[in-house]
Amino acid sequence: MHYFRISLFLCMLWAGSSLQIVCAQNAAKQAIRSDAIPSDVKKLMQAYPDFITGYHSNFIIWKDGSKMIFDDGKHHKSYSELLNTPSLSDQMLQKYEKGKLSVSPGKNLDPGRIRYEPFFCKMYGSSQNEVRKHLVEITWCPKLVGQKILVTTINGVDKKIKELSAELDTHPELKEYITNIGGTFNWRKISGTGRQSTHSFGTTIDINTKCSNYWQWECKCTNEEANIVYKNRIPQVIIDIFEKHGFIWGGKWYHFDTMHFEYRPELL
Ligand SMILES: [Zn+2]
Repeated sequence: MHYFRISLFLCMLWAGSSLQIVCAQNAAKQAIRSDAIPSDVKKLMQAYPDFITGYHSNFIIWKDGSKMIFDDGKHHKSYSELLNTPSLSDQMLQKYEKGKLSVSPGKNLDPGRIRYEPFFCKMYGSSQNEVRKHLVEITWCPKLVGQKILVTTINGVDKKIKELSAELDTHPELKEYITNIGGTFNWRKISGTGRQSTHSFGTTIDINTKCSNYWQWECKCTNEEANIVYKNRIPQVIIDIFEKHGFIWGGKWYHFDTMHFEYRPELL
């Protein structure tokens, strides 16, 4: 009898501890599932290490401890909704193809043009005054052009622009494209929309407008639902140099803007 009681006690102890282990394993699996970092978040973390330090339960964690929601759970947005009410995950939805385009962009394929504005405001500033605090003047292509332009120091964008400018400066055959820079910093909305242009953040350069094509000039409209015929005159070598330094090209959009280059390392 005594032996039976001890066995029963040991058996209950064993069952209890086994259950605890199973429960603990399940809890750990649950935690891994909710905290598994989506590949698009990893890209953001790698691209902006000065700002994003982690991820937890659908939120990216900023260095200052604040959180920003990643996926808003709305997965069947129209193209207009993607542009006008995107989430941070929508910003990563369309994949940017590095190098030479094999075909012109398909209808409404605008990789990089879907932007979750609070994400950029958080890094670069949410007002003209805030952005201006981080701007420096640099000399664009000192040998071939020598134009003074304003760019942000955040994320080392000024250094990257100096590097790519030095590289372009070794190509005298490209002078007509890189002379008379169309614009860098300009706190403004995108023409025909209520959305803030990335020119507002000092991360973006328009090269010579005279050598460029823009969808609104071609369709003579601002309607983003319009059917547009693709045009480009910018040589591939310029695009390759910008992409090498973390800048995407607006010539890879259905709504093409071939003068436009913006710092978006998360897409490259
Ligand atoms: Zn532009």
